[in-house]
Order: sequence, then structure tokens, then C-alpha cells
Amino acid sequence: MSHNLFDTFSTRMQARRDADFIVTPEGRNYNYAQALDMSATLAATLVALGVRPGDRVAVQVDKSPEAILLYLACLRMGGVYLPLNTGYTASEIGYFLGDAEPALFVCRPDALDAANQIAAETGCPQVVTLGTGGDGTLMDKSAGVTPFAGIETRADSDLAAILYTSGTTGRSKGAMLTHGNLGSNSRTLAEVWRFTETDRLIHALPIFHTHGLFVACNVVLMSGASMYFLSRFDVDTVIDAMADGTVLMGVPTFYTRLLQDSRLTPELTANMRLFTSGSAPLTADTHKAFQQRTGHAILERYGMTETNMNTSNPYDGDRIAGTVGMPLPGVEVRITNPEADTHEPIAQGDIGMLEVRGPNVFSGYWRLPEKTRAELLDDGFFVTGDLAMIDERGYIHIVGRDKDLVISGGFNVYPKEVEQVIDEMDGVVESAVVGVPHPDFGEGVTAVLVLQPGAKVQEAQVLSALSDKLAKYKQPKRVFFVDSLPRNTMGKVQKNQLRDQYKDIYADA
Ligand code: AMP
Repeated sequence: MSHNLFDTFSTRMQARRDADFIVTPEGRNYNYAQALDMSATLAATLVALGVRPGDRVAVQVDKSPEAILLYLACLRMGGVYLPLNTGYTASEIGYFLGDAEPALFVCRPDALDAANQIAAETGCPQVVTLGTGGDGTLMDKSAGVTPFAGIETRADSDLAAILYTSGTTGRSKGAMLTHGNLGSNSRTLAEVWRFTETDRLIHALPIFHTHGLFVACNVVLMSGASMYFLSRFDVDTVIDAMADGTVLMGVPTFYTRLLQDSRLTPELTANMRLFTSGSAPLTADTHKAFQQRTGHAILERYGMTETNMNTSNPYDGDRIAGTVGMPLPGVEVRITNPEADTHEPIAQGDIGMLEVRGPNVFSGYWRLPEKTRAELLDDGFFVTGDLAMIDERGYIHIVGRDKDLVISGGFNVYPKEVEQVIDEMDGVVESAVVGVPHPDFGEGVTAVLVLQPGAKVQEAQVLSALSDKLAKYKQPKRVFFVDSLPRNTMGKVQKNQLRDQYKDIYADA
């Protein structure tokens, strides 16, 4: 029996032939019948371009409905879809093509010359283009091909995609995701978030990342729902889409930006049944403010490239601000001592390394067997690199990345704890706490703050406000003010940049 994820999608798509699949503000729409046809045409085009089952298809294109159809085509003919961040430069692309050895590279029309050169240097045999208007040589070559008949047989363990991790701490690694990983996770999410064919998802995320590609599109396909497909997040377009949208999947910055708009009211969101947040921590303040303004409690969930989604706040029941909820059905979690190699669970309520196991967990890093062995343990648990705690009600609290932990004078300082206290101060919008080299303490706790316009908060005030709220070793040694925190496209604060920027401040301490 085949376990190609596209088998499942195609059954749903057949049943919903006349229904909307992708709707765009520009009216470039596809119903499910058109999407099925186009996936067969593009699958045949991939084969004609020399792609065989198991071959990688690297894709760096701007967001468009056709890019999703290309993903479906790739699944359909047994290829391995490999989306690349649209922000990567030509030299970064060179690394990915060299590492993944794709049979085909699909690039933007205006990047063709550079792409041809990189392909020649890395031995990639074919390059085609795909533009945002359904244009490009991929589409030209698809004209007149005989559509791919059927769906390639795939095992549960066969690769469906490789997604490179963002690589903030060294070389970006290719996470190998199987048909089984993607299928099980999207089935579970569609169920626990109660997706039905009447849903219309407002899709404003990028589609080179697990959130916008797998969480969003796979859940829609699993449930035969439709999506309002926006080229990027824009407050006006998202607000317009809420009139007949039912779900928004967002990163926290979507919500902070929506909150700045006076049109955000219970009336505006009356048709919406669900707002989810992930990819970066949603502050309890944002969660509460959104609930006050709209009546909707944002449902926060937690996942990563390597594991798909692991935990979610409940659909029914309390969605608790500042927590990522409970393990999804079929997913096991344990909290272990990051300093020991035993991987034994530690006492309930203690902070430690979050490890996860389940059908959602990837099969390893592409061509990095040692990295894989270090992080994907023999018993099937994956060491996430996130520090977390499980409270008495079973809700999981992520306290930060292991690598962001600050060790000052031998004591562990969890940045989130300090950030929460700072964020409560009047005039503070948000903060990031990092550890930077300090001659006495090893690392000095350092806070970087964004203030509300016109707020006159000064370093000494912050330090004195914290002095009776936090133990001495947790208090920042220095406080800096910036206009905005450096963030990546998924809204994650780039703490490595901050560490770099402030690395010499204690040199003379
Ligand atoms: P990525 O592989 O780019 O999806 O990044 C995964 C990482 O994002 C996780 O390991 C977490 O550190 C972080 N992350 C994802 N969702 C959340 C969340 N709801 N709260 C806090 N951190 C999150």
C-alpha cells in the first residue's frame, strides 16, 4: 500500500472538486479540480525535466499559488520538496545546492543568471523559473505535457521534503521529513483544531517554512478547506480578509501589529473561530490584550522544523497565556537534565531540556549522521534544544533556547523570566535578555529594551525597578535601548545578533 501524502490529499481534493482551494486578493484562484489538474501537469513537467522519485527539487521563489501546486506536484511524483528562504543570497544558495544535490532548481525569473551560474558550480543539472503571476519557464515547459498519471507509490518512511533549519548557531542543517511525518501531523492538527471544509484560512505566512507550508497548507488540504492566500502579512489585507475568513495562523508579530490598529474589534472578528500563534513566544501581555479587544483567546502551539508541531493549547478548555499547551495526541514529551547524558526525566515542575517523540519527529539531518545521532536518540526522543517546564496542570512553558541560557557567576538565568519582569514596566514595549562575556561573571546579564514612543525610561530606573523583583544574579548589569529588536521572517528575536553587538561592553569591567 502506498503512503504518499498526496494519496490522502487527492481523495479530499476529488471530493471537493468544485470548492475553492486557493483564493487571492488579485483573483488568481484555484478550485480543487484545477489544483488536481495542475499538480498532474506540473508533476509530469518535473519528470520531463529529469526529476526521479527521491530526487530533491530545490525551490527559491516568491509566494504564489503555483508554488503550492509545485509542492503538490513534487509529492505526487515522489520527489523531495526543498523550499529555500527567499532572503538567502546567491552564495548561501550555493551552499544549499552543493549540500542537497537537487536534480532541479526552481528560482525567481529575475534570478536566472545567478542561478545558472550557481547550478553550474554545484553540478545541479537543471534550472527553471517560476514567477508570482503564474509565469516562468517551468510554466512554459508545462504547456502541452501529458499529465502525470496516478500518484507515485511511497512508503511512510520515504522523504517528502527537506527543510533547512534557520542555522542561527552554525551551519544550517537539512531536516529530512517523511510522508509519514507530514501526514500524521497535519491529520492531528486538523482534528484538534476542528478544521472542516467550511473553514477559510487567512494565509499570510511565508511558504518556505514549516509553519506556512506544512501547518497551514497541509491542514487545509487534509480538511478540504480553503485559504485566502496573501503574498505577505499586511494589516489592511488581513483585516479585510476577516470578513469571510475563519482562522488566522500567525506569528506573534502579526498579533502585536493587529493590536496597534483601532479596527480590531469583536465585530471585525465575528466570523473568525480561531487565531493560532507559534514559531516564537507570544507574550502573556499580547495574549491578554488580544482577548480584551476581540473576545478571542489566541491558541498558542509549539513546534519546530525537525518535529512539525509538538504541543498545543486546547481548542476547548483554557488557553493559557505564556504556555504552549499540552502534547498533541501521539506525541510524548519529557523534560531531562541538559547536563547529564542519561536523558532521565527530572522532577515535575523543574526546568530542563524538552525532548519529544512521536510520528511527527523527522528521520534525521541530511548527510549528517553524527549530528543526527547526537540529537535523535536511540529511544526515538529528539532533543529539541528548548528549555521548558511542565506545570501542575500539565501545560508546557518554554523558557528559551538552551543556547540562550545565561550563566552568570555560575548561576543559570532564564532570559524569559527577566524579560517578563521588564515587560511589565510602564513605557516598555518589549525586551530581550542576553548573556555577553564578562571578566568576573563569565557572562553578564544584559537587557535590550524597546520603549513606547515618547517614554522616558532610563537605565537606572530599570535597574532600580528590578532590584526588589529579581535575585541579584538575575538582574541585568547593563540596559540598552533600541528602536526595534532584530527579528527573522518568522518573528524570532535574533539573540545571536544582540550578543554580537554587545560582546565588548564588559571588556573593561
Ligand atoms: P523553527 O525550526 O524555525 O520552526 O524554530 C523552532 C523553534 O522556535 C523552537 O525550537 C522554539 O525555540 C521556537 N518556538 C516555536 N514555537 C514557539 C512557541 N510557541 N513559543 C516559544 N518558542 C517557540
